[in-house]
Formats: sequence, structure tokens, C-alpha cells
Amino acid sequence: MSIFEKTSLKGQVALVSGASRGIGRATARVLAQAGAAVAVNYRCGRQEAEAVVESLDSGAGAMAVQGDVADPEQAHTVVERTRETLGRITILVNNAGITRDGLVMRMSVEDFDAVLATNLRGAFLLSREVARGMMKARSGAIINVSSVIGRRGNAGQANYAAAKAGLIGLTKSLAREMGPRGVRVNAVAPGYVVTDMTSGLPDDAREKILENTPLGRLAEPEEVAGVIAFLASPAAAYITGAVIPIDGGLGV
Ligand code: NAP
Repeated sequence: MSIFEKTSLKGQVALVSGASRGIGRATARVLAQAGAAVAVNYRCGRQEAEAVVESLDSGAGAMAVQGDVADPEQAHTVVERTRETLGRITILVNNAGITRDGLVMRMSVEDFDAVLATNLRGAFLLSREVARGMMKARSGAIINVSSVIGRRGNAGQANYAAAKAGLIGLTKSLAREMGPRGVRVNAVAPGYVVTDMTSGLPDDAREKILENTPLGRLAEPEEVAGVIAFLASPAAAYITGAVIPIDGGLGV
């Protein structure tokens, strides 16, 4: 099989959580370009999600699917609706994420819990929903979107760092549980990416990040999406339990 065939996702069905914007949107597009049918999950941004679906370069099928991934019933419905419309899910990208930054001494329990619920529980819930089908079929790939912050921590982001570090533990545990049944589970750990999430970064924080990033720039969402598509593909058939940094060297 040539490397081009190995990176093809023809015949695959992907669910990307939080795909109405940013990294999720770029991932939906790259997966569709590689031939997968793609479900674009969102929580509130219906018009944005429908625009993503319209823009997908996919003959394989695509849909927008609403649901808050932090809610067990909604996570179940998102997976069921995807299955009914596109078929059995073979690729899950746990990308949905939020921030509620603040120093710990001023952080509310609500802000701590909200970030853990979307970023970590959401990934657990969707993974649990697809696990049985993937293990029964003895194939499948789950990619969790962690962060350089989960590996290094960050003042003012204890909730986010805890969630992203938790995703790494979830990734490695799922890799051990599901590997014997042919399912691969990996994580990516992006540095700072040009999306809505980072659009409010103060100038001094941005400058500090750039100073500490050997490649001297932020990432484009497509640069994260490409690695996710690789991890989803047969070209990554012997990679599981890995956490791939995509951070321009920030985490070195
Ligand atoms: P973004 O532009 O803010 O987009 C977030 C996406 O998640 C939106 O589509 C949003 O949809 C969706 N979402 C939020 N809460 C949700 C929920 N409970 N259920 C379903 N969907 C939900 O963020 P981004 O920068 O692309 O980040 C994507 C992922 O990458 C996140 O996990 C983030 O932590 C991670 N990451 C980002 C960076 C960065 O620098 N940007 C760096 C490292 C890691 P709605 O608008 O409809 O709610």
C-alpha cells in the first residue's frame, strides 16, 4: 500500500466534537478531504456548524449534529444521530473545549467544574458511547485534543490544565483498554493556535509566548488538523497511547 493510500480515510465515519469553529472546523475539513464522512458537532453555533458542513469537500456525506458533550444524554444522542445518518463511527475526535481562566484563589467552583465537564467529561462520555462498536469491529481511532498546558501547567488556568492533563491520563488508559481489540487512542497537545480561544490574548502574553516558541509564531488550525488526520489514518497503525506535541517547540 502506498503512503497516499495509507493516509486515505475512504469508508471511514468521523465524529468531531466542537467542530463549528477553530481546530474542530479545520479537522472536519481535513478528514473530509481525506475521504471520510464527517459529523460536525456543536453546542450553540448552529449556523456556523451548517456552514462548515456546506464547505466540506466530501462525497462521503456530512452532517451537523447539535449536543452538549458534557451532558451524558446529549452525548448519547450525538453518537446515535451520527450512526443513524452516516453509519458506524470509526473515528472520534474529542476536540470540544472551553476556558474559564482565573487565579485559583479567585476561581469559582462553577468555573472549575464547567471546564472539567466540557474538556474532560465530554471526552469520556463520547469515548464510552463509541467504545463498544469500535471494539466489536476490532478497529477504530480516538484522538483527544489536549494542550501544552496539560503537560506544563499555566498560572491562571488550573482548571484548564487539570482537564487537559486528565485527557492525557484518559488517552493512555483507553489505549491500554482498547488496544487489545484493535482500537488506537492518541492525543495531540497543541501550543497556541490562531482561533477564537486565543483571540483575546493580551499583547504582552502573546509576545512572551512567541519569545518562548522556537518557531516564533502561533499555529494555524490546519497544522493541528493534519496531525489529527494522520493519527486517524492507517499510516499511524502502530501508534497508540501517544501524546504528540504540535507547539512549535514551546514545550521543549
Ligand atoms: P474554539 O474556537 O473556541 O472552538 C470551540 C468549539 O467547541 C466550538 O465549536 C464550540 O461550539 C465547541 N464547544 C464548546 N463547548 C462545547 C460543548 N459543551 N459541547 C459541544 N461543543 C462545544 O476553540 P479552539 O481553539 O478551536 O479549541 C479546540 C480544542 O483545542 C479545545 O479543546 C482547546 O482546548 C484545544 N486547544 C486549543 C488551543 C488554542 O490555542 N486555540 C491550544 C491547545 C489546545 P459552540 O460555539 O457551538 O459552543
